[in-house]
Amino acid sequence: MIEARELTKRYGGKAAVDRLSFTVRPGHVTGFLGPNGAGKSTTMRMILGLDAPSGGAVTVNGRRYYRSAAPLREVGSLLDATSVHGGRTARQHLLGLARSNGIGGSRVDEVLEAVGLTRVAGKRAKGLSLGMGQRLGIAAALLGDPGVLILDEPVNGLDTEGIRWIRDLLKSLAADGRTVFLSSHLMSEMELTADHLIVIGRGRLLADTDMRDFIETNSQGATLLRTPGAEAQRMRALLETAGASVRLDARGGWRVGGLTPAEIGELARTQDLAIHELTPVFSSLEEVYTDMTRASVEYRGTAGTYEAENAEDAENAENKEPVR
Ligand code: ADP
Repeated sequence: MIEARELTKRYGGKAAVDRLSFTVRPGHVTGFLGPNGAGKSTTMRMILGLDAPSGGAVTVNGRRYYRSAAPLREVGSLLDATSVHGGRTARQHLLGLARSNGIGGSRVDEVLEAVGLTRVAGKRAKGLSLGMGQRLGIAAALLGDPGVLILDEPVNGLDTEGIRWIRDLLKSLAADGRTVFLSSHLMSEMELTADHLIVIGRGRLLADTDMRDFIETNSQGATLLRTPGAEAQRMRALLETAGASVRLDARGGWRVGGLTPAEIGELARTQDLAIHELTPVFSSLEEVYTDMTRASVEYRGTAGTYEAENAEDAENAENKEPVR
């Protein structure tokens, strides 16, 4: 369990993390989301005792983490997979970590096997691909068989198979009762992996909520509509005349907003148009997240220049209560 209470970090006059309170619970994969510069890495560094808070506190299993006697057995972390001595082999790197934490050498072979690096264990770290380096970082995080895992962008550099592998791994670690806390900028991946979300913007909490609730509560209601191809354009015109928004859906068919499925059905009947499918759909995590964080993006690119955010949006975001 990770508990942050009023956690704050200031750099100069600016709060990178601003009175942040949340709890990351065991048995779940909790996703940590926020635009670039929102304060995710700073928060993770404070959890691990690598940065000192300017205010508030964060504990792991009820204690400040830097006081832990056997840190790797308590928390496994991956912050920057490139922070490995390039001249050491993958096995030497893990053996060094194991020794300094009182962990036996046989565990090194176990984690190498678990992350699929056994074959390249004798290779120097600098010769490893980005994806292999990422797997080595994950192996180090798993070394002490910790109850808490903190991973910053763990799927960076992994291929499709690697991404699926880490998704299954994190879910099984959570199912075993571990606390898994991860950040990723890949929304579709986060939607598949995490079941709880903590969203921050400009250092502040925007949401601390169950993934499904987050999507269902904040979705713009829409309906997926399929019609026979020959009638598709007539249907579209009819819906637009009635004030609906209509666009092509990635799955094929129209995505209709602004009308209920019943209203769409009744409208089609007036023109004798056939309907092959009428399904309520929710927004993706990416769509909901983009709407929620629009006001808290530090700088938004416009036509190649950086423009400070819209002051009114920012005002609104600041006055909003976090979603819980
Ligand atoms: P994220 O991980 O969400 O992208 P960070 O935690 O890296 O965000 O950064 C949050 C804010 O704190 C940013 O505005 C960043 O520029 C600032 N920041 C982070 N580390 C430092 C530092 N060592 N010195 C000064 N400012 C920093």
